[in-house]
Amino acid sequence: MKVITSIREMTRFSENLRCQGRTIAFVPTMGYLHEGHLALMAEGKTKADHLVVSIFVNPAQFGPSEDFSTYPRAMEQDLEQCRTIGADTVFTPDSDIYPAGFQTYVELEKLPLHLCGLSRPVFFKGVATVVTKLFNIVNPHFALFGEKDYQQLAIIRQLVIDLNFDITVVGVPIVREPDGLAKSSRNKYLTQKERPHALLLYRSIQAAEKMVKDGEIDAQKIVDAATEILLSCPDITVDYVSICDPVTLDGVTSIQGKVLMAVAVWLGKTRLIDNRMLVVPHTPE
Ligand code: AMP
Repeated sequence: MKVITSIREMTRFSENLRCQGRTIAFVPTMGYLHEGHLALMAEGKTKADHLVVSIFVNPAQFGPSEDFSTYPRAMEQDLEQCRTIGADTVFTPDSDIYPAGFQTYVELEKLPLHLCGLSRPVFFKGVATVVTKLFNIVNPHFALFGEKDYQQLAIIRQLVIDLNFDITVVGVPIVREPDGLAKSSRNKYLTQKERPHALLLYRSIQAAEKMVKDGEIDAQKIVDAATEILLSCPDITVDYVSICDPVTLDGVTSIQGKVLMAVAVWLGKTRLIDNRMLVVPHTPE
């Protein structure tokens, strides 16, 4: 497995692969890898000849009061996991990504005005900027992103269209702990006391799913029921519970066809998100 730290070397290396007629799958990460990241890598390996994984904790996507400095980092362990899963190249750029004088950012007009974008105003600007830069540097044929960060995936899909990247974006389903909690690098922050309460996110989504299965189509009723489940834990603060259009992320009032249910909470000091598609069962005529 090759480890590349220089931007120029990464660009040349990719160019070389392309000249040899080889295809590249790319998995951008912020490290502290877990099975969710590994699922993206495994899927990437099935898509292309060469798998590039990047590990970079992107300062531009953290707000001033967020956890950039304390975000968990474990480079040696991460490299070992990449080796084991069979990544071909790991790209670990450093501060060269934002050199002195940097001032060009990528911002979407509408998609960030929903869900996580409301409470994390710089987040998607940082994500869109770093992903654009990484796409330019790695120049992959395929890029893999987790459905766990659904809004991010929607934003990347739009960015690829808007900026004419010739890249196929592949969404990978959420990988969960055995009890249902979506895997996340930030789960490390949860205390032993908080960990069981973290399950309430998944429970609230499961309850919503059951309501839809039982015929409920009033989105507000489902949001209220899910919120009640989350607030049954006094340590939880709800950021949002949303039922929305899976493409535009605009809220819906009545559930028809396929809609996205997305939740975000603070459990103590830890921000947790989860989501699932709600599908109205087919009613025979
Ligand atoms: P991060 O390192 O948190 O920036 O995540 C890197 C990529 O891994 C993103 O595309 C995430 O959506 C994806 N990812 C993180 N957690 C999961 C999970 N539990 N299941 C699937 N994909 C995930």
